[in-house]
Amino acid sequence: MTLAPPPHQKAKALRPGARRPAKDLCSECGLCDTYYIHYVKDACAFLNQQFPTLETQTHGRSRDLESEDDCYFGVHQDMMAARKQEPIEGAQWTGIVSTIAIEMLNRGLVEGVVCVQNTDRDRFQPMPIIARTPEEILAARVNKPTLSPNLSVLEQVAQSGMKRLLVIGVGCQIQALRAVESQLGLEQLYVLGTPCVDNVTRAGLQKFLDTTSRSPETVVHYEFMQDFRVHFKHEDGSTETVPFFGLNTRELKDVFAPSCMSCFDYVNGLADLVVGYMGAPFGWQWIVVRNDRGQAMLETVMDQLDTQPVASQGNRVDAVQQSIAAYDKGVTLPMWAAKLLGIVIDKVLGPKGLEYARFSIDSHFTRNYLYTRRNYPEKLAAHVPEFAKRIVSRYKLPKT
Ligand code: FAD
Ligand code: SF4
Repeated sequence: MTLAPPPHQKAKALRPGARRPAKDLCSECGLCDTYYIHYVKDACAFLNQQFPTLETQTHGRSRDLESEDDCYFGVHQDMMAARKQEPIEGAQWTGIVSTIAIEMLNRGLVEGVVCVQNTDRDRFQPMPIIARTPEEILAARVNKPTLSPNLSVLEQVAQSGMKRLLVIGVGCQIQALRAVESQLGLEQLYVLGTPCVDNVTRAGLQKFLDTTSRSPETVVHYEFMQDFRVHFKHEDGSTETVPFFGLNTRELKDVFAPSCMSCFDYVNGLADLVVGYMGAPFGWQWIVVRNDRGQAMLETVMDQLDTQPVASQGNRVDAVQQSIAAYDKGVTLPMWAAKLLGIVIDKVLGPKGLEYARFSIDSHFTRNYLYTRRNYPEKLAAHVPEFAKRIVSRYKLPKT
């Protein structure tokens, strides 16, 4: 007797360029490029916000809203700052993400790794793959700072017969992944997340580079760093820094994707393990272990890392409150004033470590709350998760 195929296999993926069910809010996570579009109404991060349900499914509990750390950083059992003793050349930071993926593959914990390489013609054009060798994982190192359809390879996972898989991804991708996890036919799924914010389409990225860098065509890598500057790395190895407060906010206001302007999953709350930078001292990476699977993943690389406890210093609140109005009015400071303000905030007021992470979360959640309220008022109540509402309620927002 042959079993009937699961219902989703009859669903039809959307063709490239076709309008997605989340319309303008689509983050191009890739789910709708597969027959798992069958579950889109339930699974899409922008159609159905369901953090408490998916957190309980993944971590065994949802966030404790009375806990400040849970509200900001999500369910977790450990946090630390870390860096590789021997950094991977060309990685975004020291390459902890790539190293964990390689170790998990080499030790047979997984048979494949969903990650993002770039196309031959464009270093920033994402090309999701299922890597089956360490070389393929290494070729995916460094951020492709553009919306990436990581879940578009999910049908290939089913066809390959793989049973143990690692997925590397950002929050919106992981929310949809968790919602269809039980349909993937896997025995074990590991999820290695990065925080993510202010992502852009490929065209938006070009506008950002053209507006901000002295040499847009030679940028190989950039990051918004804890010293309140954007650091661009160029092909010749040189570094260019531009103060956050000198960015042309009026020009750049529309550059970020609407999905990212209405996202409240900065810290990737549904990954097993998160590797970012913003809760760590300058030059270090920030690790959040959410559950036992995440702990097992981290243990595969502990002997290659220097670590230190997370710390917190300074007070972000006034800087966040002032940035709300400045961003809203599209204020752009002259470069000398922007540099000075960056130095004052960094050296004098100095939110550092976890306080810097809170600064960044507060600034983005207040901005995104305003964006959602203005552009999608009918979605506001259900789309903004409770933990984000609590964070936003601490600030005075413009009335309209
Ligand atoms: P590497 O070893 O270089 O590996 C990078 C991995 O990222 C690769 O495996 C690749 O598959 C994956 N990847 C690359 N581009 C994408 C993409 N577009 N979508 C999904 N996966 C991708 N951290 C913070 O603390 N604060 C932030 O504000 C922040 N913003 C980010 C914004 C974006 C768009 C991205 C992709 C990441 C962001 N991060 C942020 C995470 C941080 O920049 C590093 O990616 C992380 O610390 C890992 O560094 P690494 O050297 O270990 O990674
Ligand atoms: Fe589909 Fe993902 Fe876009 Fe939602 S965000 S409409 S699930 S491709």
